[in-house]
Amino acid sequence: MTAVDHVMLTGNYRYLRVSMTERPRSILVAPCPYDDESPASWIQRVCQMHGITYQRLAESLGIVARHDPDITLPPEHICHIGAGTSVSGVRLRALSNTFHAVRALPRARNLLNFDPLGAPTYRICRYCLANDPVPYLRIAWRFKDWKFCPFHHERLMDRCDKCNAYIKSTRPSLGKSPSGKHLNVSDCAACGQPHIKPAGVHGPPHVMFDGQELAAQDALVATVLNGYFRIEGFNRRLDLGFFLWLRENYEWHGGRIASCGTCENPRLVSSIVRRLQSLYEHASGAMPIIGIVQ
Ligand SMILES: [Zn+2]
Ligand SMILES: [Zn+2]
Repeated sequence: MTAVDHVMLTGNYRYLRVSMTERPRSILVAPCPYDDESPASWIQRVCQMHGITYQRLAESLGIVARHDPDITLPPEHICHIGAGTSVSGVRLRALSNTFHAVRALPRARNLLNFDPLGAPTYRICRYCLANDPVPYLRIAWRFKDWKFCPFHHERLMDRCDKCNAYIKSTRPSLGKSPSGKHLNVSDCAACGQPHIKPAGVHGPPHVMFDGQELAAQDALVATVLNGYFRIEGFNRRLDLGFFLWLRENYEWHGGRIASCGTCENPRLVSSIVRRLQSLYEHASGAMPIIGIVQ
């Protein structure tokens, strides 16, 4: 062996040691997340790109698949999956932190969709998926109170209309359809049938809905994603814990909260209501309304 060969072998060995022990394993390619895409949706699309299940993906990276990757700890889970790909670290961290407020306040999980056995699920708008160049799950579709698509006036569906399976966040659709198309987020992971209708079969059903209800679902999602909310006429941010407390003690009517009996701290609420009353009467002479506006 020449001196030059020896140097080359040593160099390769060091490189391998560094690769295996200090650099995270990488899947090398991953799709770029959409701005309003949920973490679980992005993981599904990574799985579809590589043709493997979420469990298999996690195993190949030496990490543990999570029960609910949207809200799971550690937040670095998403960063581990995207490490070494063209998706920037800044974007991966932002995706990881989508549901940071739920992570910080676990009882906010009550605002999210789960099936009866506790598996995380989504509701979907078939018309949004049909119009996507690459179908993906929206952050808002994870919320129980997000019931209507504001673009298509479609009531969202939480199950496949062919096999009745829930749309689970950690179960990607894999394989091909009988026509040879690679399955994606717009196809049922349980039966492989498309959730979307063929173009031209019929348009959106134009469900009658209350505009206030759309504003309310918007407000609720914004509250959770921001971790705070505002009450009309009250110029201060209020935290998510207070919002949950209000929902637990008051009825929720399209963004307005109505009293439904006793609450733990009526003085707190009444002091806020009194301030609202004086603000409203001073500003417009209107009847006081507690409404979520953020
Ligand atoms: Zn839609
Ligand atoms: Zn199905």
